[in-house]
Amino acid sequence: MMGLMMDRPLLTTEILKHAVRNYRNTEIVTRTVEGPIHRYTIGDSAKRIAKLANALKAMGVTPGDRIGVMGMNTYRQFEMYYAVGGISAVLHTINPRLGPDNAAFVINHAENDYLFYDTVFAPLVAALQPKLETVKQYIALTDADHADDAVSGALTYEELIADHSDIVEWPEFDENTAVAMCYTSGTTGDPKGVVYSHRALVLQSFAACLPTAMSMVEGDTFLPVVPMFHVNAWNTPYSCLMIGVNQVFPGPRLDGEGLYEMLDQEKVTFSAGVPTVWLGLLDYLEKTGKKLPHLKKGLCGGAALPEALIRGFEKYDVELQQGWGMTEMSPIGTVNVLPPHLKALPIDERIPHQLKAGRALPFVDMRLVDSVGHILACDGECEGHLQVRGPWIVKEYYKATEPTLTADDWFDTGDVAIIDPDGYLQITDRAKDVIKTGGEWVSSIDIENAAMLHEGVAQAGVIGVPHPVWQERPLLVIVKRAGYDPTAEEIQEFLKTRLHKMAWPDAIEFVKNIPVGATGKILKTELRKQFKDYELPG
Ligand code: AMP
Repeated sequence: MMGLMMDRPLLTTEILKHAVRNYRNTEIVTRTVEGPIHRYTIGDSAKRIAKLANALKAMGVTPGDRIGVMGMNTYRQFEMYYAVGGISAVLHTINPRLGPDNAAFVINHAENDYLFYDTVFAPLVAALQPKLETVKQYIALTDADHADDAVSGALTYEELIADHSDIVEWPEFDENTAVAMCYTSGTTGDPKGVVYSHRALVLQSFAACLPTAMSMVEGDTFLPVVPMFHVNAWNTPYSCLMIGVNQVFPGPRLDGEGLYEMLDQEKVTFSAGVPTVWLGLLDYLEKTGKKLPHLKKGLCGGAALPEALIRGFEKYDVELQQGWGMTEMSPIGTVNVLPPHLKALPIDERIPHQLKAGRALPFVDMRLVDSVGHILACDGECEGHLQVRGPWIVKEYYKATEPTLTADDWFDTGDVAIIDPDGYLQITDRAKDVIKTGGEWVSSIDIENAAMLHEGVAQAGVIGVPHPVWQERPLLVIVKRAGYDPTAEEIQEFLKTRLHKMAWPDAIEFVKNIPVGATGKILKTELRKQFKDYELPG
């Protein structure tokens, strides 16, 4: 017997309609690319979203068309999120840090007819222009007064929407229709396209609003440092509108000082970003002695959350929660919200729990398998390849030529992990980064985190280098913190009290900087190239 309930489609426009009906005065504030602060409400934004939807239709955009955007977190890109998906076209958010070859590849691969861009990226877009095979029209996300002539034939966003009506009749269509797409910044091969459906993003937005996930409430003010060009800013432009949370978009200023200004002036209570961003902010607070009395919580994901960050922000009464996810998972898989009995523990006993990536959102199924595909126990000890499935997890990469899933329809994340009997996930490494030494697996993340606890270490990256007896041994590469001059011996001693003997690095090298990729994560591939012929001492 089937249920007898209405079959209404889960569309992102329903989130917008809900927000307009219930939270029309909720604020959206932007530090614009042009400079000044822009403020408006959800009610105002809905009118401009309607104007953009009408303008796109008038331009000839039809369902399924992929519209490219290379932009900062601003109110204009936010408007694109709702307008493009709302007319059943697909917003392709492009990471400007992909590098020119990959950027051209993804725009051509997605066959974008239109490319919207922030003027800070005009030189990059101009350089890409000769390589772009499908783009018919370029649109700068600005007004006529700030237009830039680097990109030939470009219109501006404000001119595009100016003469269109601020009323639109949103169409209804199948909830499995594509709403957005984003390419993984894959470290090997060409980037791979992940195409999100309305249903997937709406469901994830519901889950993200749970108290066991982002746990924001009406009255909170959220600042996404995580870019809108990377997995929909962790889907927050949708989840914030579900519950009437104010949003503050930081625009082009993502440095410690720039972020501090927006967090402070706009009384931001919750923020989200990768560890590098949180480190930059912590550095700024330490240097200036400034405080953030309004900021209560931050979600830190995209890479392992270092202990030094948890401890650092605790001094400012900011609770950092770790999340884990992937572009292929829309992106949130787990969030670490500690239950009261763990929260009440003294800091040194609590931190080991906070260093885990958290528990899965409902509907995210996780399992561990060994290298031949046998399923392993979630007993807090077995370490294996992490596989997932769920309604907001990729089924197939865009234009895939080989299967994306395992034979029994799970997605292999490429991460190595442990899951404990209470469901807590601990990412120990990327499968290709784990150091295999004498038959054991040593986590490069553990060594990096331990090194980051040393006050003289600003950044740490660990790779395995060949060893005649042990197959591989860890090499620790360090960027010193400004004003400190630690020696290799001092750091070795420091690590000995914090790591298992197998994980003590065989060598430490100091460098000026460690290469990071398009999403702010250490590029182990580049680090390996840099130390290709490295010979371990002794
Ligand atoms: P991306 O698709 O660029 O968001 O990258 C996803 C990858 O980032 C995951 O497969 C992990 O390797 C890594 N990652 C994300 N969150 C965490 C975390 N909390 N701890 C360790 N690695 C993480």
